Amino acid sequence: MDTKLPSKPNPVVKPLERAEAHEANPWQQAMEQLDRAGKAMKLEPFALERLRHCKRILTVSVPVKMDDGTVKVFEGYRIQHNMDRGPAKGGIRYHPSVSLDEVKALSFWMTMKCAVVNLPYGGAKGGIICDPKKMSRGELERMTRRYTAEISIIIGPDKDIPAPDVNTNEEVMAWIMDTYSMTIGYSCPGVVTGKPIEIGGSLGRKEATGRGVFYVTRELATREGFDLRKATVVVQGFGNVGSNAANIFVEHGTKVVGISDVGGGLYDPKGLDLHDIMEYRKTHDSIADYPKAEHIAIDKFLELPCDILIPAAMESTITKANADRIKAKYVIEGANGPTTNEADAILHKNGVIVVPDILANAGGVTVSYFEWVQDMQAYFWSEKDINARLQEIIVGAFTEVYEMSKKEKVDMRMGAFMVGLRRLGKAATIRGMYP
Ligand code: NAD
Repeated sequence: MDTKLPSKPNPVVKPLERAEAHEANPWQQAMEQLDRAGKAMKLEPFALERLRHCKRILTVSVPVKMDDGTVKVFEGYRIQHNMDRGPAKGGIRYHPSVSLDEVKALSFWMTMKCAVVNLPYGGAKGGIICDPKKMSRGELERMTRRYTAEISIIIGPDKDIPAPDVNTNEEVMAWIMDTYSMTIGYSCPGVVTGKPIEIGGSLGRKEATGRGVFYVTRELATREGFDLRKATVVVQGFGNVGSNAANIFVEHGTKVVGISDVGGGLYDPKGLDLHDIMEYRKTHDSIADYPKAEHIAIDKFLELPCDILIPAAMESTITKANADRIKAKYVIEGANGPTTNEADAILHKNGVIVVPDILANAGGVTVSYFEWVQDMQAYFWSEKDINARLQEIIVGAFTEVYEMSKKEKVDMRMGAFMVGLRRLGKAATIRGMYP
């Protein structure tokens, strides 16, 4: 193999710049949430103590032959937070700001999410520190395949099932499925979800997270007595979650007045033409320069006037620095961990209702679960069936969380933690401790 070593090491990854140090550490944020809820509901101390630790943390180095002939070594992680209720489940993220603490937090939130919607799964997450926007398709494929080989010692359809997350998609899932299948010697669609339909993917998976966001918002509207068709929506992030959520709101007659991606935001109080913006994006890296709407700077975007704000980009975007200026009455967390605990308290004080990530974006893992069930049975369902079952699960979970928050007089995040922790506590107690 004719490879040259790179003359410079990989670029140093900058720490999160989205919030101050403590607010920007998702693991510390997640553990504060756990402690607060665990204490309030008197969770069994041994169950609480176990949830404060990840069951298994794998760090891998991923050498990749780059197109220019040099070799770069990327750092990757796969973390299984908890498997008391079933195999671990969670996405894989490619981003320069991936860190061990971020992946730990995301794996913990997956444990909580699967328990809140009562899927027979534990939580996991994976990630590679890289900048996929600066890599070719070939480099991404080689990186994905080597990473899959490195983590194949702990993943598998009965052990841990990855899925898409930020900057990973159906194609990346297909490479994972193929690499794992080559390693074990037979085709194994159930090792990963979010795959293309042709190799065992599920109808409705791509739109599932956005659809779940819509279902919880519709339930909230019914409970809180507002008319969703008269409401205005602002969506931060125009990737899988944000773009699908925005489209589904528009399909149901709700006006989307603001959308953004990493390049900048767009605003039109009369409602944005999403179809036209999707067409524009096919030929542009970012929607930020789309000419037929007002341009909004990224740091002002979340403060746009609207009824419903859907952060669907990254964690820690709503912080104590901007929470007071948020005008929305309802925040529906499409992203994982978008609101810091400090910001959460400010929103609560201001009367803003927050539907937490572990409920609001659970549509994705729910249809991933359906995909896995279909793969294991080699029997595939119609899209109508999938959406009906998704609605049943999300509406059921919303009802449980909403009622718990009313009964215990807590906000919906705490209500969701209480619902999830109750299931996790019971599972831990029934299984007991080995040895
Ligand atoms: P994606 O890569 O498809 O899209 C991410 C979007 O966020 C892009 O449009 C990007 O430009 C934008 N973005 C990044 N930083 C931003 C910033 N500071 N301001 C505005 N926009 C910014 O990722 P995704 O799969 O849509 O995931 C988004 C969030 O939803 C993540 O928190 C992820 O963990 C969570 N999530 C995803 C799924 C899923 O099924 N994909 C399921 C549950 C939760």
